[in-house]
Formats: sequence, C-alpha cells, structure tokens
Amino acid sequence: MENTIERIYADAMDALASANDADVVSDLSTQYLGRKGHITHYLRTISSLPAEQRPQAGKRANEIKRSLEGEFKNALTRLAKMSAAATDRIDVSLPGRVPRTGSLHPITQITNRICSIFSQMGFDVVEGPEVESDYYNFEALNIPKNHPARDMQDTFYVSDNVVLRTHTSPTQPRVMENQPPPVRIIAPGKVYRCDSDLTHTPMFHQVEGLLVDRQVSFADLKGTLTAFIHQMFDDRTSLRFRPSFFPFTEPSAEVDIRCVICRGKGCRVCSHTGWLEVLGSGMVHPAVFENVGYDTSRCTGFAFGMGVERIAMLKYGIDDIRRYFDNDYRFLSQF
Ligand SMILES: [Zn+2]
Repeated sequence: MENTIERIYADAMDALASANDADVVSDLSTQYLGRKGHITHYLRTISSLPAEQRPQAGKRANEIKRSLEGEFKNALTRLAKMSAAATDRIDVSLPGRVPRTGSLHPITQITNRICSIFSQMGFDVVEGPEVESDYYNFEALNIPKNHPARDMQDTFYVSDNVVLRTHTSPTQPRVMENQPPPVRIIAPGKVYRCDSDLTHTPMFHQVEGLLVDRQVSFADLKGTLTAFIHQMFDDRTSLRFRPSFFPFTEPSAEVDIRCVICRGKGCRVCSHTGWLEVLGSGMVHPAVFENVGYDTSRCTGFAFGMGVERIAMLKYGIDDIRRYFDNDYRFLSQF
C-alpha cells in the first residue's frame, strides 16, 4: 500500500512539472487533494490496513498531502507572477498617450487682455484684498452706513465691520491713501455678492480703473473707454453713455456698446434693444478725494468698473455665466 501513495505522489509531481497554466494546476489540485481526490481516497483506505501498519501509513500520507498542498500553492504563485510580468512588459511599438495640455481659463484670458490694453495706455495693474473692511468697501467710497446705495449690493458679512468685497472699487481709496496724484491704475480681482442665477454668480470678477490728475475731464473718460472697447471688440463697435448713479462718482454714466451679435438690429442677447451694457463709470466724487486727503481744487479724475464674465460672454458668445465655473473640459478646451 505504501507503494501506492508514493506512486500517487510521483504522478502528481510529474503532472505538476508539465503544468504551465493556473487552470491546469487548479484542476490537478482538485484531482489529488479534492474531496474525491486520490489522496483523500487513499486516506480512507488506511483503516482497512493491519493495525501495526496504520500509524506509519497515515503519517506518510499526511506528509505527502502537506507537501503537495505546498507545491500546488507555489506553482500557482509562480504562474501568477509570470502572467503579471507578461502583462507589464513594455511594448515600445505602441503609440504614446499624449497628455492633455492645460490652458488659461477664459476669465483669466479676458482679464489678461483687459490689463494688457490698459497697460499700453500707461495704467499700472494693482490688487487689493478680497476680505475687506466696511470702511474701504463702503464708507471711503461715499457710501455711509444706512445709505440707500447699500441696498444695491447684497453683501456677505464676515463680521460687523468686515465684508467680502462687493466690488473692486476699494482699491481706489487704498491706492490714493498711499500715493499723491497723478494716479493711473487698473485693479482686477474677485468680488462677492449674495446672488445666483443665469447671469449672476456669488463670486465673479471685475476690473476697476482709476485715473487722477490735473484737469481730467469727462472727455478723457470717453476717449479712454472708446479706445479700450475698440481694442477689446473691434473698431466698428460704437458706444453710448447713459446717465446713471453711483455714490462714488458724479456725474455717473453706464456705458453700452452696439450689440456685437446683431450689430444693432436687435436680438435675444441684447433684448432687442441693439445695445449691451458693459461697464459703469463716472468722474470721481469730491467726497472720495476728501476721504483720502486729496486737494479737490487741484485734481480731478475718472473711474470705471466692468464685469469680466460679462465681457467674456459677449466676446465669446456664451449664454450662461455658470458655464465658467462648471469645470467642464469640453467647454474649457474651446478657448
Ligand atoms: Zn443684439
């Protein structure tokens, strides 16, 4: 009988030596060690042996069983490694995967374009804090507490006297406090208002402009903005100035451009008026100069502000402001 178990062992080892596939090894394992396998069957026959042979036969059979279990396990591990190595091998003839290259966000591109146009006209680019004091965001700009103009802006308050700036205009008093005239700056940046729909997002971008010098007139404001609009859109774009109100400019004007989509014939984008509102502007209010210690008898100036999203929507024909912030690669890759 001992010969039988040794023969089973030898046969199993032979079969294993020629097995080069994990499925074959698994089948062999079942064939020898399974519930109906050769070894199991042999172990059951031990009880029929003469009593004195049983301990030796049982011991040897169990040794062989353990040995085979180890051999099958090792074979499976070895085959798994070989298969992984075959998969990992580098095929140098495969075409490469080209990584997606990034590009500047359309808002960044338009901001850069606006800054570049004004830089050519001699404006310096400055920045101010997004978390702003109530003083710079409102009071220094002639918007005292309880002034009705505060209702125009739904403000995010950080604390009683600290806000997320509602416009880039606080950079005006901040710069003028630290610099005597002349001043010629533009200030791009993020601003925040409690507002969210098709044309408003709680965070958006503005560019502020300020020019202060001797004898600056409304004609200078018109000339500067006309030159800007012609470079931003094209030379054929006409402008119109509409009387408006801002607490920090007097007189104030909203600037419309002839609709860039329909050229003034009337379309959905311009609500069939032929005109598009693009920025707010005006002559700096004397109260703002007084707040920063400027001599109002010696200097005048103009200021303007525009929404970058708005300019980009018109420039690229985008219909929903939220697209800028969806982070959709298909949208962003077009710019
Ligand atoms: Zn139109």
